[in-house]
Amino acid sequence: MTTPSSAPSTLAALVHCACHEQGGGGPFDPLRLRKDFPILTLTVHKDKTLAYLDNAATTQKPASVVCVLCEYYQACNANVHRSLHYLAEQATLRFEEARRKVQRFIGAPSERSVIFTRGTTEGINLVAQAWGRRNLKPNDEVVLTGMEHHSNLVPWQLVAKETGAKLKFVPVLDDGALDLDAYGRLLKGRVRLAAFTHISNVLGTVNPVKQMTAMAHAAGALVLVDAAQSVPNRPVNVADIDCDFLAFSGHKMLGPTGIGVLYGRLEILERMEPFLAGGEMINRVTLEESTWADLPQKFEAGTPHVSGAIGLGVAVDYLQRVGMETIRAYDEHLARSMIARLDAIPGVRVFGRAPERGGAVSFEVEGVHPHDLAQFCDKDGIAIRAGHLCAQPLMQRFGVPAVSRASVYFYNVEEELDRLVQSILKAKAFFHGA
Ligand code: PLP
Repeated sequence: MTTPSSAPSTLAALVHCACHEQGGGGPFDPLRLRKDFPILTLTVHKDKTLAYLDNAATTQKPASVVCVLCEYYQACNANVHRSLHYLAEQATLRFEEARRKVQRFIGAPSERSVIFTRGTTEGINLVAQAWGRRNLKPNDEVVLTGMEHHSNLVPWQLVAKETGAKLKFVPVLDDGALDLDAYGRLLKGRVRLAAFTHISNVLGTVNPVKQMTAMAHAAGALVLVDAAQSVPNRPVNVADIDCDFLAFSGHKMLGPTGIGVLYGRLEILERMEPFLAGGEMINRVTLEESTWADLPQKFEAGTPHVSGAIGLGVAVDYLQRVGMETIRAYDEHLARSMIARLDAIPGVRVFGRAPERGGAVSFEVEGVHPHDLAQFCDKDGIAIRAGHLCAQPLMQRFGVPAVSRASVYFYNVEEELDRLVQSILKAKAFFHGA
């Protein structure tokens, strides 16, 4: 049997791109960091410099991430955990190295508690199906909030239907914060699980997940945190939050699409049955029955997204070189700067004024449909999002069918916010001659 070695492959060295150190060096400077993102130099609609303000949907990728995908397929491509040949050994080594990078990044106690998924949605479905369907009984309760992305709502609706469990919802206050008194009251029921978002993709609200986790645990419930918007934006440590599950997506944190992570507390993951079944996740199979592989493979059926995981590892390296606390502070500064600009425009209503916030800012412009505004902005080279943002119940809560959303990341600059304001003013003038 061959032993995996950590020596770089000659082939890999041949095609290795010099951009792997991107993101580091010197004080934080968004203008310098922008140069690491080739796509940000694009001009669209002939001559408009791209202002990318749709980061809550997906972030752009630095060249180091793009290049490692190319390098992987040119110099390392093989299936992992199966073959004993050289490339398979290298691919497995790098895949597992990526898992350890993620483990350290989120402060998970063991690499066995880090499961690679397709993204946040799959991670939550894994918990809903593999834990929820087996453990929830009729009239058990799952506490969610009124600000969940459909990804952390619909999977629970399905499971509730099958098990007879009930869903309860923490109300959202007018400023976009959660009603924590109501949360405390809801926890007095037969609650088995509390599942909530860390940062709202619509309101930007940062929920006090550590406090909410402690409250749920005191009530005897498990906790799942939807960290799709928080892991990209700030230091997130699962040991500190003390949650039982935490899900996030690689593509929202500079990584490739199709890769994500579910963190789970080891003792719970060990007791759970698999989610998907097939190759990789078994120990022994007969025609009649099977036994399961150890963690994390028990939850990684089939060929995984090897290049995606390696790309995510490089994205984590990049984010760590910039610094997660630096990113948090800058995103918050830019978001507040955007809100100040929007507040100065008559007829603009911003949704979400909670004391702590991330980089997503949702708003409506009186008399201008969000889709029309998004098209207006697009013509000026500004990418924003419009619609229900996969949070229809939250739209209902605020009495709107849709909103516009501009969401910043650390490579955005104030000048892009000025351009957004100019586009909004143009749209307003067009639709009501104001
Ligand atoms: N949860 C939140 C808060 C999100 O913002 C998103 C995506 O926008 C998701 C879940 C779903 O993420 P994905 O589509 O990557 O699975």
